[in-house]
Amino acid sequence: MDTPMREAAGKAIGLERFGFPISPDQREIHETMRRFGRDRLAPGAADRDRDHRFPTAEIGELARMGGMAMKAAPDDDGPGLDNTAYALSIEALAEADPSVAVVTVASNLAMNILSLHANEDQRARFLRPVARGERGAASFGLTEPHAGSDAAAIKTHARREGGDWILSGAKQWITGAAAAEVFVIFAKTDPGSNAVSCFVVEKGTAGFELGRIEDKMGLRSSGTAQLFFDNCRIPGANLVGNEGEGYRLAIGALAPSRIAIAAQSIGIAERAFALGLDYARERQVFGGAVSDLQVNRHALADARTELDQAWLLMLRGARLLDDGYRVAEEASMAKLAASEICGRVVDRMLQLHGGNGYSREYEIERLYRDARVMRIYEGTSEIQREIIARAVVDGGRG
Ligand SMILES: Cc1cc2nc3c(=O)[nH]c(=O)nc-3n(C[C@H](O)[C@H](O)[C@H](O)COP(=O)(O)OP(=O)(O)OC[C@H]3O[C@@H](n4cnc5c(N)ncnc54)[C@H](O)[C@@H]3O)c2cc1C
Repeated sequence: MDTPMREAAGKAIGLERFGFPISPDQREIHETMRRFGRDRLAPGAADRDRDHRFPTAEIGELARMGGMAMKAAPDDDGPGLDNTAYALSIEALAEADPSVAVVTVASNLAMNILSLHANEDQRARFLRPVARGERGAASFGLTEPHAGSDAAAIKTHARREGGDWILSGAKQWITGAAAAEVFVIFAKTDPGSNAVSCFVVEKGTAGFELGRIEDKMGLRSSGTAQLFFDNCRIPGANLVGNEGEGYRLAIGALAPSRIAIAAQSIGIAERAFALGLDYARERQVFGGAVSDLQVNRHALADARTELDQAWLLMLRGARLLDDGYRVAEEASMAKLAASEICGRVVDRMLQLHGGNGYSREYEIERLYRDARVMRIYEGTSEIQREIIARAVVDGGRG
């Protein structure tokens, strides 16, 4: 593999301590992404957050490294990462800039659907240009103003006209939409049966407009926007997979993607932990360091213990996927645990900063805002618990 992702010679960074075999390739990719994050993402992250500015140059650079379609096979001009290397990449990006990490996850979610289900023509027109970094990031459009958790309730619809499809409706909360050129969109194609189909819509198509860029609490540079389709005509050739199978494609891609959100949560929490530990060691109170006080030592011990739990569940999910298992419940457990642990770790680390933690001058304040949505997107914590409960209570697992 001759992409820059594969070039840098990495060295062990302690991932082995989790007991999962990490290959030299996977370690190298993690190191490369950490270096990219440290050198290219972290320096501008605070300014982009403050200015509500999309990381156009940074995403472009990452896209040319294969970052927007990391699991796309070399035949599709992608780096062909396995699930473990993909998750490690997202963790590393999130340590540096969680907004870049979520734009990357959304693009990969959309492109994973094309990797699995697109025909040769769609690979040539959409997947390969994104994998080569020629078309920036892609977006994934399922959620609507009235349908998030209850995704089957979407109202956007597509009807046939001649050989084309005509789309009408609205999408909301679409990550990376501000800059995406390729959108994987879900729409009802048979109002009678509630069947959903999957389409690719290109930026600039007549009848397709971006709405407002959301003014969010955190992840402020991830370019989240509404999409509007007003009798938007797309070629029949833009239907992905079979008509009526879109919901299966969406759910099939979302389950493994939850491991990437677990990885993003871990990346945020790792950065928060490092900041909290440094601050507590430096800051003097009552003649000693904040970290000398037992209550704070225990806060750090609890945070480290919980973070390792999150890593273990995330790596287990990725490993099972790499070994060919279906991982719906394991992915939900990883996402549920990592996102909730992320919230607790960031909160504890902010507390160690005292009043400074409440100031925009300190990175922990941004991480606190960025962390909150981990428990909401790609399925809320309540939905993850429903998925797990269906398996352990109704399905006889456990
Ligand atoms: C920053 C951000 C980025 C996003 N990016 C994307 C994207 O790129 N593409 C995309 O398609 N979507 C995206 N989303 C949408 C996201 O996935 C949804 O917001 C999420 O699934 C929740 O849906 P909702 O907001 O409609 O909440 P609702 O579904 O209205 O939920 C409201 C509350 O009810 C609870 N609830 C709902 N159903 C149940 C149940 N059965 N049992 C118990 N409690 C329940 C929920 O947990 C929640 O607490 C994004 C959202 C955000 C905030």
